[in-house]
Parts: sequence; structure tokens; C-alpha cells
Amino acid sequence: MKITIVSLRDCAIYLEAHTLRMCRLVSSIFKIDKTGAILPVQIADEEFRSRLKQLDILGKNGFPETIRYELNNIPVNSKFIVIVGRDYQTDQIILYRLKGVVYEFNGKENFIQPYAERMEQFSSNYSVCIFNGQGRMQYIGEADKSKRVCRFCHRSAPLTSFTHKSHAISESLGYKSLVCHEECDECNEYFSRTIEPDVVNMHSFLLSLCGISGKKGIRKTCGENFKFWLDRSSRQYNSQGTFMMQLKDLHIENGDIRTGIQNLPPLDTSSLKYIPQNVYKCFCKYAVSCLPQNQIGFFQKTIDWINAPANYRRLPMVASCSVDYTTPLFSLCIRKEQDYRYPYCWASLNIANVRYMFIVPFSSQDRYSFTTKARYQFFLDILRSWFPVLDMQPMQLSSSKPAHTVVDMKFTMDDRCKLGRDYFIIDKGNGEKEIGGQ
Ligand SMILES: [Zn+2]
Repeated sequence: MKITIVSLRDCAIYLEAHTLRMCRLVSSIFKIDKTGAILPVQIADEEFRSRLKQLDILGKNGFPETIRYELNNIPVNSKFIVIVGRDYQTDQIILYRLKGVVYEFNGKENFIQPYAERMEQFSSNYSVCIFNGQGRMQYIGEADKSKRVCRFCHRSAPLTSFTHKSHAISESLGYKSLVCHEECDECNEYFSRTIEPDVVNMHSFLLSLCGISGKKGIRKTCGENFKFWLDRSSRQYNSQGTFMMQLKDLHIENGDIRTGIQNLPPLDTSSLKYIPQNVYKCFCKYAVSCLPQNQIGFFQKTIDWINAPANYRRLPMVASCSVDYTTPLFSLCIRKEQDYRYPYCWASLNIANVRYMFIVPFSSQDRYSFTTKARYQFFLDILRSWFPVLDMQPMQLSSSKPAHTVVDMKFTMDDRCKLGRDYFIIDKGNGEKEIGGQ
């Protein structure tokens, strides 16, 4: 059973119930008609909220926590729409239309309509494939190992092997369910050693902060003078868990932890190095992994560039913005017509709570490189007109010089916090202290 829920909240909610038990649970939250079918229009009233509480009492029953959180945060007494049987996750136009209806139901002005029109314009220019890194397993490319050709080195068995599962997008970014059949073991190993660590290092702190789960669980970020991670074991007491910070330079005099915390030196992330151009290469590697097979031939120069060592290349800018959810979503857009003002291929990649929108450069279907200010500005303006709610800012990822992400974080502790109740200190005896708290 698939369900799409559209409310006054920014994002739609998607639910998928695979088991009968789950279907029953889902049906128990919403108002139903005489036949037991979920009514399309619901109200987030007291009754709805108390039904959600029932879910809490049921405890760990496999009902996704994030969805419970989203449902709990539908504005009080507002009307919302529940569509059973369809997952509109990949259909932005319908979502915008539904959003407009929800606004009207709640007596609000339907300012969504122009967005829907812009989305229609967008879809007349580009065909879009959306990949959800958390959904059901999705396999891209040739299933038969003996027929596979690696997209990156063009070799087949027996010159190379396809024994390991190659994730189309790094698993450490939370993309667990996308597998590219056409990436050989050698290329997989090469990328995991060369360009993938750059993306992970650049986002390390964010991945820990947002609780993104990779192959080995949630990432622990280790800087020069700190370690930071999210301890999920305390999740039964709060929704997310406990953030843990181990600090090297915390000086506590006479038990005065507050002053110690305020005077903390900046978090030193200089050991988490990345090469900006490798980040861009890795983004494009994800795009090539997700491309439909018949498109690969248009990207040979892109693949050559991905495989080459990092040298300065003037590349298009990359737009980024923050989003208020952490679903690993990747969209690949391919131009439909020969209007060369638009890049042939661009993609949108969510990492933790950041979205990147980047052009896949060096395609044989492009006439321009989009590296001049005017060409890129045209693309950026178009993006901004299609997605006006996103505050997109361009950034440069051309450099081949190592950089690191600065984490500007200030700590304060509320006067009401009590040692042993709200926080605790573990002195490791070697100058390191560990603070836990919520
Ligand atoms: Zn290969």
C-alpha cells in the first residue's frame, strides 16, 4: 500500500506499507469510511493527534519515526489530503497541484499555481529521473554479469570482474538502495580510494549532525581537537538520540563547565581534507552511474575527466541550498530539445540537509561549457525560476588544491542544566573530556 500525504507542511509525506500489520497500523491513524477506506480529506485535530499517540504506545513496531514526526507536525486543525495507492514522489507537477488544493481547503490563497506552471515548463525542457536512496533496491544497467561493460573503463569479464556490489551513489551519504551493475570491482575500488572520500570529508560533520547512516552506521566525525557523533541508543528518551562531543581542549576550573564551554577554541577540521574538483568529479560519477544505458555514449569526455588525476579545470559553478529534510534524493535531468542555451544534463543531489544542483560537463550534446559568467547565470536564473522556494547560491568546485569545511559552532549551556541529569562528563585522564547531553 502506497500513500502520499500533502499538508500545509513544506514537504509531502510518503508512506509505504508492505505488510498487513503495517497496513492496519496506517489505516488506524486516519479517518475511514464505512467500507474501511481511508478518507481523502483529513483534519489534524485532537482526535488525529490522539490516534498518533496510540502509535507511540505500540512502541517499536516498524512505523518509521521520521513519518510519525512529520505527521505530528501537520499544523493543528488544518485539513490535509491522503492519497492511497499512489506515490507521487516523482511527480512534482501533481504535488504542486495537490498543494494548491490543500491551501484552498484551508482558506489560504493558492500561491502554488504559478509554481505548478513553472514545473510544467521545466518538464517540457527536461526529462527527469528521480532516485530515492532509501527506497526499495534499484538496480541500474545490465543484470547479466557476463554481458556487463563497465561504464568507467569499458572493460568486461574476464578482463575485469563484477563481484562486488557497486553503489551508484556512496552509501556513506545515506544512499543505500541504488546499485549500478555497470561499475567493475577495480573502478569501484579506485573511486572509493580517490574521489569518494573527498565528498565524505567535505560533509563529515553534517552527516554526523543529521544522523545519516552509512555502511557502518552513523558517521563519527574526528577532527584534530574533537570527536562528534550521534548516539542513537538513547532514542527511546528523545526523538533523535544524544549528540556526543569529545573535546581535547576543554578546561574546567572549579567545576565551572559553562565558562569552559564558552571559551572553547574553534573545532579543528583541517584533517578532513578534500579537493573541491574531486567532489565535482564524484558528483558526476554518481550521475554517470545513474544514466540510462543509451545515454552513456554522450558522456565519454566526462568519464575521461572523472578518471583523470585532479588538475585545475575551469568548470561550471555548482548551485547549493539547504533543505529541511534529509531524504537521500537524486534527480537526473536530460534535455529534450536541441536548445543549447540549456545544459544537456544536470542533476540534483541531496546530502544530509544540503542540495546541490550541478551541470554534468563535457557532454558531446552540449555546445557551450557553461563556464562563462553569462552562460552559467542563464542556467542559474532558470533554476531559480523553476524552484523559487530554494535559496540557491553558486559555488566554485574547480580547484585542485586541498580544502576543509570550517565548522563554526558555538556552545552554550543553559543555566538550568544540571550535571548528572542533563549532562555528564567523562574525564579520560589524558586531557580529553567527553560531554554527553541532549
Ligand atoms: Zn571499470
